[in-house]
Amino acid sequence: MEKPVKITRKKSRVFGLAMIMVFVFIFCFSSFVSAEMIPVTLKTSKDDLNIRSQPDTYSSILTVIDKAGTTLYPVEKTSSNWYKVRFADNIYGYVYSSYVSDGGALTSSVSLFAGAALRTNASATASVQRLLSAGTELTITAQDDKWYAAKAFNNEQGYILKSSVQSFAVTYPTAKYPDVKVDDIQLLQVTATSVVARASASTSAASVATYSKGELLTIVSSGSSGGFTWYQIVTPGGGTGYVRSDSVKTYAATALKGKRICIDPGHGSKKLATDTQIDKGNIGVSGMAEKDVNLAIARYLQAYLNKAGANVIMTRTSDTGLMTLVDRATLANNSKADIFISVHANYSSSNPQKTGTITYYFAGNSGTPVSSSLLAKRKKLSTSIQNATAKDLGFTSLGTASDNFTVLVRTNMASALIEVGYLSNAGEEAKLKTQKYQLLAAQGMYKGILKYYE
Ligand SMILES: [Zn+2]
Repeated sequence: MEKPVKITRKKSRVFGLAMIMVFVFIFCFSSFVSAEMIPVTLKTSKDDLNIRSQPDTYSSILTVIDKAGTTLYPVEKTSSNWYKVRFADNIYGYVYSSYVSDGGALTSSVSLFAGAALRTNASATASVQRLLSAGTELTITAQDDKWYAAKAFNNEQGYILKSSVQSFAVTYPTAKYPDVKVDDIQLLQVTATSVVARASASTSAASVATYSKGELLTIVSSGSSGGFTWYQIVTPGGGTGYVRSDSVKTYAATALKGKRICIDPGHGSKKLATDTQIDKGNIGVSGMAEKDVNLAIARYLQAYLNKAGANVIMTRTSDTGLMTLVDRATLANNSKADIFISVHANYSSSNPQKTGTITYYFAGNSGTPVSSSLLAKRKKLSTSIQNATAKDLGFTSLGTASDNFTVLVRTNMASALIEVGYLSNAGEEAKLKTQKYQLLAAQGMYKGILKYYE
């Protein structure tokens, strides 16, 4: 009889020590990390409220909540006044706190395991007001990451661990990408050997940009001066200049009707089934995720191509679950896309000064030979989108190069991968964060695609 008693004692000593460590850990944790209590529901206070993929007004729009008064379910609040909210498909998005208010309480019941405690504070060391039995109905009024503020019985107020409460019977909203709308763009094509865009509608005004024969220009407005029609156009980096009508012609973007074009916004999915998180791509110097830049540009490009009558296949229109590089190429191949463009943003860890746009194509190797006619198409596509995109952005053109990126090797059509700029460069990242530059990049690619089909 002696032995079992000893063993029991030993066990209980170890158990006791473990409990003290757990207690110390919980105590330290709860003393130093005190999360703000936030509502358990939010009501939207304006129509057409943007839900974004990051707590940042420059991040891509995940979905739009049409009607004011819609209930959202927050999970946390970031220090910069954004709520992270949950959607049905287990996607999370961010809503700016000024556009929502506390949407009121939820009811739930204590889970099946008994002994859940209603405490005086949101802390494991706070005193227990009352032990609750399984099935006790609670009114949940607020939350932090671990605790609910709850009322039980006759409005007895306290705090209960989230893990001891059953989940709510709620219907989460569904995240669905809205159609991206873009304004029509009217184009000119340079007919002279070269044309100088001027600061005002006069041949003696200062030069603001130079274009060569065949280049496509975006019209802002038109008027007449000195007996000529002058077009106000968008210049590199989104400024404006003026060109005279005798060196340009209006250009009808009809070449894309019925063309099948696959656009691949790089990253924004798990790369492997075993990955626990989605691949964000490069993270810019101020924190901009490449996946969001890529997606914003690709969505604008999709809108321009759709307007021009193309049939656009997107490898993703939001952050998505599992989409390997091979999956992206296979989608392009299976959908019989005529061209494939993968949109990326670059990063140099060694040189933060490095800037510019570069476009890659795959020229073939012994394992994957490429016919000379296909290679010619790939070079033409790469050169067309490279030149037009670098020019519209006003970024340095780093030209085109052959490389063996998986999406290029695995696609069997004219394919190209463009790196629009460097997120490691503070100036280029700051520009690429803005809708203006995202639109300029998309317009450049659109013009490059039109040039490819000439
Ligand atoms: Zn990338």
